[in-house]
Amino acid sequence: MIPVNFAYCRPCTPEEAVQSYTAYEKAGKKTLYYGGGSEIISMARVGSITPEAVVDLKEIPACCELKEEGSYINMGGALSLRAIADSQCFPLMGKAVGRIADHTNQCRITLGGNLCGTIIYREAVLPLLLTESEVSLQGPEGVRRLPLQKVFDGRMRLLPGEFILKVHVPKKYAQMPYLHVKKAPTEKIDYPAVSLAAIIEKGKLKIAFAGICSYPFRSKEMEAALNDTAMDITQRLNKAVELLPEKPADDVHCSRGYRELLFKNMLGQVLAELSAGSKAGAKS
Ligand SMILES: Cc1cc2nc3c(=O)[nH]c(=O)nc-3n(C[C@H](O)[C@H](O)[C@H](O)COP(=O)(O)OP(=O)(O)OC[C@H]3O[C@@H](n4cnc5c(N)ncnc54)[C@H](O)[C@@H]3O)c2cc1C
Repeated sequence: MIPVNFAYCRPCTPEEAVQSYTAYEKAGKKTLYYGGGSEIISMARVGSITPEAVVDLKEIPACCELKEEGSYINMGGALSLRAIADSQCFPLMGKAVGRIADHTNQCRITLGGNLCGTIIYREAVLPLLLTESEVSLQGPEGVRRLPLQKVFDGRMRLLPGEFILKVHVPKKYAQMPYLHVKKAPTEKIDYPAVSLAAIIEKGKLKIAFAGICSYPFRSKEMEAALNDTAMDITQRLNKAVELLPEKPADDVHCSRGYRELLFKNMLGQVLAELSAGSKAGAKS
């Protein structure tokens, strides 16, 4: 049971959603955009958040869109992870979101919720970081479309009142060889100890990680080291550890030492596959 009352509205257009959000905030109500609600409901149940109003985005057609337009694949912010995986529109994205939670929760968790939630892994962002993806943000001043990397630095940096309307992935990346590997501490379905997504573009590895540090990231310096064939694989793996943006996470799920070991093993596997020139695919 949620121990507090809150207002709920389900607008049909992006403009109405922003108007409702702004009106609730002006009335002094703490307001949240609402995707699948899995995080909002579980946190409200235990009292760690106390929203006074929520604006559900799932009735807005643009937020539920999944289609090709020009050279992009557009994915609405309120699409469920399962809808994205089932569509097979972007196989690497399908693999990454298909390993978040279980099937039932994937039907509920939304793309916008995964990217903007407080749970640190945000694994749906990994393929987006590799593909020069863009994001359309709806806010009080209208829509701004910009490279995802401009508004993502481990978490989404949205302006007050903004929400993710759509994500735009360049279609060409859907055809490229890819790898997705996720290792969880115990069960197959769990938060990641280390999760990685990689694309091979013109023979070069592009790679992004979640779980190893306290936020998801892609590091071009690390990619340069991993692609540097003047070093042997052991040297490249050691360099990758040195280039982590912070020490590996150390928490109740997994120790720092174990995470580092997994990170090196998983990367070693990726480099071995890359140098063998084998057809990339999904791993778990
Ligand atoms: C059982 C379970 C297992 C999980 N395992 C993983 C995992 O392995 N890896 C992983 O990465 N995550 C995992 N998660 C975390 C999950 O992806 C997040 O909790 C996510 O926030 C839930 O999405 P939602 O759509 O239900 O979000 P909601 O609860 O609706 O919203 C969460 C937050 O995002 C905001 N928000 C929602 N939609 C938008 C939008 N379009 N624009 C802007 N802000 C928005 C809300 O205001 C709120 O602050 C797991 C969650 C569950 C319940």
